[in-house]
Amino acid sequence: GQKEPTNINGLCEEYLRLSFHGLRAKDKAFNAEIETDFDESIGRINVVPQEIGRVLLNLFNNAFYAVNEKQKLDGTFKPTVTVATRIENGMAVIRVIDNGTGIPQHIVDKIFQPFFTTKPAGQGTGLGLSMSYDVVKAHGGAIKVETKEGQGSVFVVELPLKDA
Ligand code: ADP
Ligand code: MG
Repeated sequence: GQKEPTNINGLCEEYLRLSFHGLRAKDKAFNAEIETDFDESIGRINVVPQEIGRVLLNLFNNAFYAVNEKQKLDGTFKPTVTVATRIENGMAVIRVIDNGTGIPQHIVDKIFQPFFTTKPAGQGTGLGLSMSYDVVKAHGGAIKVETKEGQGSVFVVELPLKDA
């Protein structure tokens, strides 16, 4: 794919809904609050939209999975997945925030490795975050995670606002 000026907020919105409806189609009992918090001044940034779309889809799928797992353990839990965009230090910053299971400290260093998964066979390949890492890096950006076991996770994707 080719880089093209892309409405990042629109891409986030599109893939958030796609991910949510994909999970709902497989599990009618699943529900979650979905929230968007966009910086409307970001405008268009130069990315390969299909590639960044795959990154976003994987992050949203992971987030919905994590809140769904927590909901299965606690019927009173209110799952929420939020996507927020900001401009920080000359970068477009996308945060995918979930209040799901979180990630234990002893595995957080492994999650970007290819084939690392904690999901049952057939539910995860363990390739989503390693692919995301490569795609974001190839765009001159960075991806990182802030998480607390039992509380939730924030995946932070930084992309250059302007090509180098
Ligand atoms: P997969 O989704 O196929 O397991 P990923 O590379 O997308 O592969 O994720 C690797 C692992 O990272 C997951 O199996 C899970 O253990 C952990 N993980 C990723 N995102 C989240 C999240 N939002 N909440 C909790 N754990 C997560
Ligand atoms: Mg995944």
